[in-house]
Amino acid sequence: MADTIRQHEVGIPVPQQKRTSDAEEAPQLISYVLPVYNEAEGIKHFHTELTSAVAQRPEFAYEFVYVNDGSADGSLRILQDIAKNDPRVRVVDFARNFGHQIAITAGLDLASGDAVIVMDTDLQDPPEVSLQMIDAWLAGAEIVQARRRTRRDTPFKRATAHAYYRLLRSCSDVEIPVDTGDFRLLNRRAAEELRTFRERSRFIRGMVASMGFQQQELLFDRDERVAGETKYPMRKMLRLAADGVTGFSTAPLKLITRMGFLSLALAMVGIIYSITLRLFFPEITVSGWTMLMVVMLFLGGLQMLSLGVIGSYIGRIYSEVQRRPLYTVRDVIRHDET
Ligand code: UDP
Ligand code: MG
Repeated sequence: MADTIRQHEVGIPVPQQKRTSDAEEAPQLISYVLPVYNEAEGIKHFHTELTSAVAQRPEFAYEFVYVNDGSADGSLRILQDIAKNDPRVRVVDFARNFGHQIAITAGLDLASGDAVIVMDTDLQDPPEVSLQMIDAWLAGAEIVQARRRTRRDTPFKRATAHAYYRLLRSCSDVEIPVDTGDFRLLNRRAAEELRTFRERSRFIRGMVASMGFQQQELLFDRDERVAGETKYPMRKMLRLAADGVTGFSTAPLKLITRMGFLSLALAMVGIIYSITLRLFFPEITVSGWTMLMVVMLFLGGLQMLSLGVIGSYIGRIYSEVQRRPLYTVRDVIRHDET
């Protein structure tokens, strides 16, 4: 086990126990990762819907990993109840609320399936769509992203989400797909790779985008929440949005450098202007003005540029401390006697 972890840390895939080859005996396992925060009103209904959906694909084994993200409304009791009646259920119970992205991470750490599906537990991500993801996976996709064709949220949320995804796409270093949340399927290899990302400010859709692999999009219509209300208030939304930009783009830092060059260039113009005035029209310059202008403009421009230089080093420090994997390997091909 220790060996397994060490190898994962350097990004080389560990030869898997060949589950696929003896498919007749052991069916492939599909794991669902299900974050729960104050969903007591709807979680039972959700589980019924999910289990009746997966019953349409009886050829697989299933595992449902619920992560109770510090709910304060009795969700845990209901989850315990569900686990009692369904041996496929696991419940990770957080000691406090850590947030959606961390809850998903804990679920991924525990899920052991050949394919892992992450979905919300408010039925906004329809269980039927996860079956289509499984089909796409069987057809060869390594990651299946569910992309919202339509969504039934408030006009405000729709408009801000629409604008945000496009802004992020335009400034981020990796291609983050638009209108795609955290509803997706990962094959074993991709799930293992995602687990190696251990940064604190997490923006999982960006990490997945940066991994590569053969990613496929699946369009779906996002439903309304069945019960309760959104667990993403303005504050959490803004934090996630900021994590997305700062985690996957250095555009704000580059902006400082650009402003530095611009203000230094403008300062040069101002300096030439004030010296010209001093030399050719000494009668209209107040004594001391030229020196003051030259020093002020020069220092202002220089400071801005220095901030940009410092910023670019901070950017490097930041990306070093994130300790993201250097590369993602799909497979290592070896000569095989058999
Ligand atoms: N969630 C969570 N921790 C949080 C907030 C939300 O685990 O701090 C879960 C929540 O139970 C749901 C999913 O994350 O299953 C998405 O949250 P929500 O539906 O409130 O977000 P929205 O769909 O409104 O963006
Ligand atoms: Mg929701």
